[in-house]
Amino acid sequence: MKLLSIEKYLKKKNELVADEPGWKLYRDACIFVMLGLTSLLMSVVNFFTHKGAFTWVTLGFAVLCGIDLLLLRKRGKAATVAIILFSTEVSVLFIYFIISGIPDGFSVLWTAMLPCFGLLMFGLRNGTLFSLFMFLILAFFFWIPFGQSLLQYRYSPTFMMRFPILYFAFFVVALLLERMRDAANQALKESREKYEYLCYHDVLTGLYNRFWLQSILDHPEKYPIKPAAIAILDIDNFKYINDNFGHPNGDIVIRDIGQAILTTLNNSGDLCRWGGDEFLILFHTDIDAEKVCKRIVDAVRALQFDFDGEQLTTTVSVGLVTAENGGASEINALIRQVDKNLYLAKDEGKNCTVSTALNA
Ligand code: GH3
Ligand code: MG
Repeated sequence: MKLLSIEKYLKKKNELVADEPGWKLYRDACIFVMLGLTSLLMSVVNFFTHKGAFTWVTLGFAVLCGIDLLLLRKRGKAATVAIILFSTEVSVLFIYFIISGIPDGFSVLWTAMLPCFGLLMFGLRNGTLFSLFMFLILAFFFWIPFGQSLLQYRYSPTFMMRFPILYFAFFVVALLLERMRDAANQALKESREKYEYLCYHDVLTGLYNRFWLQSILDHPEKYPIKPAAIAILDIDNFKYINDNFGHPNGDIVIRDIGQAILTTLNNSGDLCRWGGDEFLILFHTDIDAEKVCKRIVDAVRALQFDFDGEQLTTTVSVGLVTAENGGASEINALIRQVDKNLYLAKDEGKNCTVSTALNA
């Protein structure tokens, strides 16, 4: 039972961190929980070591971390408010730590963590500003006589001289690490984009490939368009072209026909290379697909190829299935029917479109 709940947590966490905003939300929540729990633990320790007001300060901070966490859960503007509140609370708490020095001048040491948290939460620019702001506050209290007069704890002069320098050294190390992390993240993002492009595009034509369509079939929610129709187009007698003009010239024919279809389609649908000499079109909602297919058949027929002085023209056959009422929510149903229409188009002598309505 316990194992099951851990599995559920991991599943939920993986779903959350799958995108950038989700990952940031998860990271901020981890920071709130970690600092909140540490503060709660400190307030218990403070309670048993009779640190008076200090107990309530750390307990209050733990409660505020809890409130920030609740705000974060609501996402959107509430999450931004949580971050602003959190940075204000942290600044106030750490100024209190510096001034009070409770217990025995120790609490100021916690400020050394700020550059790490600041850079992690606010990123390079805002994290640097936040860390430097806290450095100036430290320098003000430890290095400026007026600031020193406000301190309620008597730090040793050596400590006051050296601690801001130590804080700055922590900041520089945190900054370097964050820059390296940022560069690695950027490289990862670029290689992921490249991988996604290669995964969903056909190398020869540059069009979407079959995996792209499969990803839509697997996750229809990621394709918000209800297709008005689906067409499969197959080049006629393509084996003849390969056999008589060579495979490389066959490639040129496939590539140019793909481009001709894409141009004629003019954004009225999404085109993918379905495989071999076949293309598939998902027509966007409310498009007169039959009219567009006829235009494509004409455009392909008009293409002229010249291979070493030998002229070549070619044609395509099209199987089309149209959905009623502007769009079908079931892409699979359209695909199941469209193959039959392509065979009929080939049987009827090729270079034509055979169209039926879905389930007609
Ligand atoms: P049909 O009119 O009935 O479609 O006859 P066809 O000759 O076009 O026959 P079919 O569509 O079955 O043939 C497809 C051929 O396309 C078979 C395969 O050798 C060739 N082919 C598949 N992929 C590629 C490719 O990337 N480049 C080239 N040049 N040929 C390919
Ligand atoms: Mg063919």
